[in-house]
Amino acid sequence: MSEIIVAKFGGSSMKDHEAMLRSAQIAKQHNSSVTLVSATYGTTDQLHELITSATSGRWNECEKTLFKIREKHFDILQNLTKDTMVEEEVRKLLNNLETLIRGVYLLGECSLKAKDRIVSFGERTSSLLFAEAMKMIWPQKNIILFDSRDLLKTDSSYGKAKPQLTAIKSQCQNFFKFDQNKAYVGQGYIGSDENGFTTTLGRGGSDYSAALFAEGVNATVLQIWTDVAGIATTDPRIYGQAKSISEISYDEASEMAQYGAKILHPTTLVPAMRASIPVFVGSSYEKDEKGTWIRESVQEKPLIRAIAKRSNQALLTIKTPKMFNTYGFMGRIFDVFTRYEVSVDCVTTSEISVAITVDESTLAYDKFFKELEAIGEVVTEKGFTLVSLIGNEMLEQCGLGKRIFNNLEDINVRMLCLGASAYNFNILVTKEDGDQAITKLHQEFIG
Ligand code: ADP
Ligand code: ASP
Ligand code: MG
Repeated sequence: MSEIIVAKFGGSSMKDHEAMLRSAQIAKQHNSSVTLVSATYGTTDQLHELITSATSGRWNECEKTLFKIREKHFDILQNLTKDTMVEEEVRKLLNNLETLIRGVYLLGECSLKAKDRIVSFGERTSSLLFAEAMKMIWPQKNIILFDSRDLLKTDSSYGKAKPQLTAIKSQCQNFFKFDQNKAYVGQGYIGSDENGFTTTLGRGGSDYSAALFAEGVNATVLQIWTDVAGIATTDPRIYGQAKSISEISYDEASEMAQYGAKILHPTTLVPAMRASIPVFVGSSYEKDEKGTWIRESVQEKPLIRAIAKRSNQALLTIKTPKMFNTYGFMGRIFDVFTRYEVSVDCVTTSEISVAITVDESTLAYDKFFKELEAIGEVVTEKGFTLVSLIGNEMLEQCGLGKRIFNNLEDINVRMLCLGASAYNFNILVTKEDGDQAITKLHQEFIG
């Protein structure tokens, strides 16, 4: 086959049977070779809720959530097929889920490994239903439902597994036999480790799965279908007048994803860039809207293309007078970050201190903090939002800082980072000021 399209439909595109049929119609229209789907809308959150209720001993809550999950999936099923074998398979999956949750409730604990197994039920059930939608819309094709866990091999870091690229590539090359009569349907987000245990790629990871499959099959195009018509200049939920971007470079889009634009999982573009696969982001609700193309090089390179927001940021300041006129201090700090796999977003240094922004969830890692405290005094502040201006050639623009700060007159900028990349300028503000800062900067630079 000359063109291989890999398409991914997110949770909002799997919301109900109508959304599934609409998505199947898009897959047909584009002659998608491999289509990956997320769990139905809100289901992954509900699966996490189930685990919390079960480990806290609240069985009543578990029952309620299990009922909601069943109701939602059976409602979709009844609107898509009368095939009793499919019904039996859905029932089996959901019964299996209930058994596992009962086990967690009885034990009162749930390992990361067990969590991955439990949350995988979202994608496994939605893909089963979506395959039925595909059969209905695309009767000419042999719709092959596969289990992504057989192909997407990862390490065993449950909850945020790392893909094993060589294994994925060889599994994909062996498994897929593309021809005009077949269309494959699988799950985003889930994989398996070398012992065959279920793993997941982290929240929002279906985008990343799709990019890994696209790389694995040497796709011509990767399509990400969601609930907005492409990537906008900022999250439309923050600023309603955000504009859709028709074309953006890999570098800029990667910065956006890294700095919080939820539309793409942060690592989605890494496989696409490695394999030079252009990525299209479009809306499954308005399939004829233009959407966004992400490519290696683009025609227009505006100074500020977009503004991303990363919420729930904490600022760690590590101080020690011993740093004065010495070396190795930074190395020791970053060694702790590396060993605990804590990712650093922004860093600034002074003669005796280093300030680093991290995700607030890091504050729960007691051992990590103990090790940092052995190096110096650690001051922790939380409740921040990181606002990132994403664009081009920012390191060569006289007056950029002035324009930014003129617009943030009433807002305290706690930290700022510029210099490492020509594509971004990061500003840390309190969470209360985040949206206002974005609105003002959008009006100044984008309109
Ligand atoms: P899916 O379920 O399809 O994966 P997500 O909810 O993960 O969808 O991502 C889509 C959402 O990303 C949009 O509804 C929007 O609120 C949010 N978003 C954040 N930043 C942007 C942006 N710059 N452009 C468009 N959407 C954005
Ligand atoms: N269903 C998973 C989640 O909600 C993965 C995804 O949708 O990308 O995080
Ligand atoms: Mg998503």
